[in-house]
Formats: sequence, structure tokens, C-alpha cells
Amino acid sequence: MFVCKNCKSIDKFELMFSPEYRGEKHLEINYNDKNEIIITADGYTFVPDLRFMNEHAVCKYCGQIYMWDYEGMKR
Ligand SMILES: [Zn+2]
Repeated sequence: MFVCKNCKSIDKFELMFSPEYRGEKHLEINYNDKNEIIITADGYTFVPDLRFMNEHAVCKYCGQIYMWDYEGMKR
């Protein structure tokens, strides 16, 4: 999970797309056998990491963009 540095909300991966994103925004969220989140967005499947979050994910609680840090377990 990731935490918003602005409002400290934890995103449970109801990830929002960047306002500039121009795809269909069809999103599927699954888990692999390591309990990692797998996101499929418009046919593109990936395991989101902090870099991805800080490039693409908007906080749905406060609207802050690209302000993420790892929550809980440190890597
Ligand atoms: Zn926030």
C-alpha cells in the first residue's frame, strides 16, 4: 500500500488516473501469489511501485498529485 504524503490517507489501490491520461480507463485489480497488487489498465498489466505512483497516481482523498510514499512495510 501507499500513503499520501499530503493528507496521510492510505490508498488501497483504487488508483486514480492522471488527469492527462487519455485511455479508456478500464481498470482491473488482482493479487498474485506473493499478495502483491497487480493492476491491469487498458490491457497493460504491471505491479505498481513507488515510481509508478509518483508518476501517475492522484490521491482520491485530497486531490494531491504524485505525493506517495510506502506505507507499512519498508522496502
Ligand atoms: Zn492525499
